[in-house]
Amino acid sequence: MNEKPEQTEGISKRYEVKHMTKKLGYDDTPFLPGSRYRVHDDDRPHPPVVTPGAAPGQPPSDAVVLFDGTHLDLWVSSKDGGKPTWVVKDGYMEAAPRQGGVQSTIEFGDCQLHVGWAAPTEVSGDSQGRGNSGVFLMGLYEIQVLDCYDNPTYADGVTGSIYGQWPALANACRKPGEWQTYDIIWEGPRFDGDTLIRPAFVTVLLNGIVVQNHTQLLGPTTYRDTVPYKPHPPQGPLALQDHHNPVRFRNIWYRPLGDNSL
Ligand code: MG
Repeated sequence: MNEKPEQTEGISKRYEVKHMTKKLGYDDTPFLPGSRYRVHDDDRPHPPVVTPGAAPGQPPSDAVVLFDGTHLDLWVSSKDGGKPTWVVKDGYMEAAPRQGGVQSTIEFGDCQLHVGWAAPTEVSGDSQGRGNSGVFLMGLYEIQVLDCYDNPTYADGVTGSIYGQWPALANACRKPGEWQTYDIIWEGPRFDGDTLIRPAFVTVLLNGIVVQNHTQLLGPTTYRDTVPYKPHPPQGPLALQDHHNPVRFRNIWYRPLGDNSL
């Protein structure tokens, strides 16, 4: 306790230079409860500099871009692991109905995730049959994608719901065909061997509106049932669902979440 790690990685040059010339913090203040650091600790690691995207939703400098609108090189078919048959054109990918979902070849854990999506302009079907897809964190936990503009359905299946578990806090859907955004902060479940030691939590903004606020997931999501947590690795793919509707996606990126308790 109260031992400080070597402070080498992740420190911006900007702060490093300042530190060389001027002491910015303190070494005579009380330790923070449960922390190895003092209040205003001079030795506490500084955050790395990240350059924000030029406009909201654009990937910042440290983002991993999974889909930039031009190719599916970082995606495979969820059905057979082969090349996806989803169409890529005009900067988006479009679900190929009944040909299976897609998933990223890169696996990741706790993250900030951005996904742009649009329900089909041509309205067809109703309830769960209209503009249905889904954003599956770690391939298991679905944030529902649905055309919920003037389209009633069951509450735990609306856009922004954690499918089958938690309704969205608001229906913030734009009209069919209009581009929408998900900004998702994901904390995956923690397992110790076969034991769940902390469930997954997720915060979701739909078009800039909070629809899940650090919501605790009950387990993997599914249709008409409940599923208990089963141990899995701390990293998994991002999957997008084929629910038989030509939903479009664009501008998909994530940033691994840091940990400022270390
Ligand atoms: Mg769905």
